[in-house]
Amino acid sequence: MKTTKNGLGSKIPIYCPSFSGNESKYINECIDSKWVSSAGKFVEQFEKEFANYIGTKYASTTSNGTTALHLAVEALSIPKGSEIIVPDLTFAATANAVIHAGSKPVLADVDSETLNISPDSIREKITKKTKAIIPVHLYGRPAEMKEIIEIAKEKDIFVIEDAAESHGAEIGGKKAGSFGDAAIFSFYGNKIITTGEGGMVVSDNEEIMEKVNILKNHGMRKEKRYWHEIVGYNYRMTNLQAALGVAQLEKIEKKIESKRKIAQKYNSLLSDSFTLSSEEKNTRNVYWLYWIMIANPDSLSKKLENKGIESRRFFYPLSSMPPFETKSLPNAELAFNTGLCLPSYPGLSNEEIEHICAVLLE
Ligand SMILES: *Cc1c(COP(=O)(O)O)cnc(C)c1O
Repeated sequence: MKTTKNGLGSKIPIYCPSFSGNESKYINECIDSKWVSSAGKFVEQFEKEFANYIGTKYASTTSNGTTALHLAVEALSIPKGSEIIVPDLTFAATANAVIHAGSKPVLADVDSETLNISPDSIREKITKKTKAIIPVHLYGRPAEMKEIIEIAKEKDIFVIEDAAESHGAEIGGKKAGSFGDAAIFSFYGNKIITTGEGGMVVSDNEEIMEKVNILKNHGMRKEKRYWHEIVGYNYRMTNLQAALGVAQLEKIEKKIESKRKIAQKYNSLLSDSFTLSSEEKNTRNVYWLYWIMIANPDSLSKKLENKGIESRRFFYPLSSMPPFETKSLPNAELAFNTGLCLPSYPGLSNEEIEHICAVLLE
């Protein structure tokens, strides 16, 4: 196997960020201008351009995706001890943020095909205490927003989309993150675009966004510094991070195009042998992590590892872990027992995909 372009020798990682645009230029502008902390032109520029990309009125940068979620939940001003429905199959930050904000995560099962939160299971889990639903667009595939919004309207509860893994995913030409009362994104190093660490809250709701902006800035309004009207946090993004974000956003469509090509290539080589990640009609899956389902993901993962190929089991169902432990949910459990995520970063070459698939099909 020839040396790969990812700079990691012959190893093929599951993800690695790409900095092929104005990243260094903008970072150097911050250093030269000395605006390196959370004031500076790139912060506002990133917020404006990201809101524009997603199609929401407002966007607010944060220190990471988890703080974005914490702020979004807290900004809804729901009573402490409320219940918020989250999928059993997600990264733990989704449920952690609910707990940080003083509510209780209630786990709903996922759809066995899409891996996204099941509207039927949401209906079963709603009680008088339910105040919000947090659907996650898992691994880049958009969740069933139409039905989820219908349920929320019917029951008069909020929807916060966890779009941490799905920048640019679409349903009917409308972006993930533009359906709920608010949505959050992550810009961690392995996400579709990165700021190193970083996050964003987006919304059309002025009141929610005002609360987010005050909470993330020590409980102060920008217009009245050192006057603290509520107990806040420091969850701000730096100008350095936002500079990376602006440069990454300039190339986001190229990255997504390349990720969709990678998925097509995997599909063409694997569709006869495995159940695969795909997309619903009239939607755009951005394939953050491409996945397959197989009988024994652990042994296959070891086999890949021996050939220098990194892979990753699905997230452990939240219901199986100490902080959230509850009765297991059948679809999430089955998905965990059969799912495997494969290398999915934009620079992955056709030859590398062929090599990975050859090992898988062996
Ligand atoms: C990455 C991720 C987060 C948290 O983002 P961080 O920036 O790492 O804090 C939240 N939810 C999901 C589904 C994620 O994948």
